[in-house]
Amino acid sequence: MTHSPQPKVAIVTGASRGIGAAVAQRLARDGFAVAVNYASSPAQAEALVAELQAAGGRAIAVKADVASAGEVRAMFDAVEAQLGKVDVLVNNAGVLKTLPLAEHTDALYDQTFDINVRGTFNTLREAAARLNEGGRIVNFSSTVLALNMPGYAIYNATKAAVESFTHVFAKELRGRNITVNAVAPGPIATALFLEGKTEEQIQNFAKAPPLQRLGQPEDIASVVSFLAGPDAGWVNGQILRANGGLA
Ligand code: NAP
Repeated sequence: MTHSPQPKVAIVTGASRGIGAAVAQRLARDGFAVAVNYASSPAQAEALVAELQAAGGRAIAVKADVASAGEVRAMFDAVEAQLGKVDVLVNNAGVLKTLPLAEHTDALYDQTFDINVRGTFNTLREAAARLNEGGRIVNFSSTVLALNMPGYAIYNATKAAVESFTHVFAKELRGRNITVNAVAPGPIATALFLEGKTEEQIQNFAKAPPLQRLGQPEDIASVVSFLAGPDAGWVNGQILRANGGLA
């Protein structure tokens, strides 16, 4: 009797919906055992896990607020116990509220930095000690960082921090054969992008790239699949802008 090899293990943060859910689906199709992390949407995370399992994959849902170092540590413990040591970390969890800098409250500033920056810091710190040799880390920046549009100062600052983490951490993992890259999507049709925008604003974003449409979560999942897979083994410390040519 032949035994199929143990699947490689991927954690996708913020995978209950949006881009993260599409990344989890794609990595499961690529053959990874997938940990679907969520913070406040257990029903959606469990439904996704059921779908991945029904398709023959290995998947678990893991609740953890990425802003909490303790919860992130517990998430890695749970994944290691249930799926095995982690090969791929996708730092997708993030929030966006567009508002002029002068109108940001302390609470909104803290929330955006806690999830987008501290959340990425927390998972990277765990990954440093725990990721398997040959592993892959994919962080999430954004193409809006290059556009400097009004309303995006705080969000862009968090993504600039994530890009800095990406460049430096790739070098700090020297000798481990682990790559650290980031994907910087343009506008993608998810709740994060669509909520709070008028139809006209959405259409303006859709017309802006030369490819003249909004991105779909699958457009980004395929980029993450590439960065997480064997073909991207020589890509390290890079920011990959996937935006239909917007910037
Ligand atoms: P989304 O549809 O709003 O989904 C966000 C996901 O993050 C949800 O699954 C949510 O889970 C999770 N999440 C939020 N706070 C969390 C926390 N504290 N801990 C763990 N999970 C948390 O967003 P999206 O559009 O897919 O965005 C995903 C990533 O892409 C973000 O980093 C975003 O900045 C980046 N991005 C998006 C766009 C775009 O146009 N959509 C463009 C550029 C970059 P719960 O519901 O369980 O909290």
